[in-house]
Amino acid sequence: MNKKILIIEDEPSIADNITYALSTEGFDPVCCGTGKDALSILNNTTFELIILDIGLPDVSGFELLKEIRKTANTPVICVTARSDEIDRVVGLEIGADDYIVKPFSPRELTARVRAVLRRTTERTSRPLEETCAPSFPFHIDKERYAISYYDEPLELSRYEFRLLCVLISNPGRVYSREQLMTQVWEEPDMSLERTVDTHIKTIRQKLKAIRPDEESIVTHRGLGYSLKEST
Ligand code: CA
Repeated sequence: MNKKILIIEDEPSIADNITYALSTEGFDPVCCGTGKDALSILNNTTFELIILDIGLPDVSGFELLKEIRKTANTPVICVTARSDEIDRVVGLEIGADDYIVKPFSPRELTARVRAVLRRTTERTSRPLEETCAPSFPFHIDKERYAISYYDEPLELSRYEFRLLCVLISNPGRVYSREQLMTQVWEEPDMSLERTVDTHIKTIRQKLKAIRPDEESIVTHRGLGYSLKEST
């Protein structure tokens, strides 16, 4: 069965383009133009992915996503046109999985859709350790649950290991504390988001012990953390 994708977009020409691109790629897109319609459709149908325009006529995409997240964990790609929105979306503080900026080509969008689906399917169907495919200077020994850094083994606690796995499997991607919490801890408790900071701090110390002059984990103020992309 083709994967159902909900497109929430009020500009008919863009909605048509996305619909066309996704159907020719073998997806099953459903389109609507308001937040109200989106919520009622989502009440009755399950989708594999949602493409959400931030600028909707009846409600902001941010508000709508909050509403959607109350009941569903469906992957969401935000579509944004304005630069002042991009910061919020990039921070992914609103719980989106990816974003795309207008104008974009249908090919670009379908590539994003595939990437997000691949990532999120792996996230749910395979253990975290198996989806982690780091590159130098990191290396992971999956059987021993160990990570080495510049060929030096790191001594990591279980949560440090899982946290570093998430970061190094997607260099450059900014993860909010909430996202890290959800992916790493089995029983995420959002009141303990500072736990994430504490673990990042100890991981940093361990990395610094091997390479004092290197800052592999980047802090994004008010947003979260990412692994520095190798240059
Ligand atoms: Ca719009």
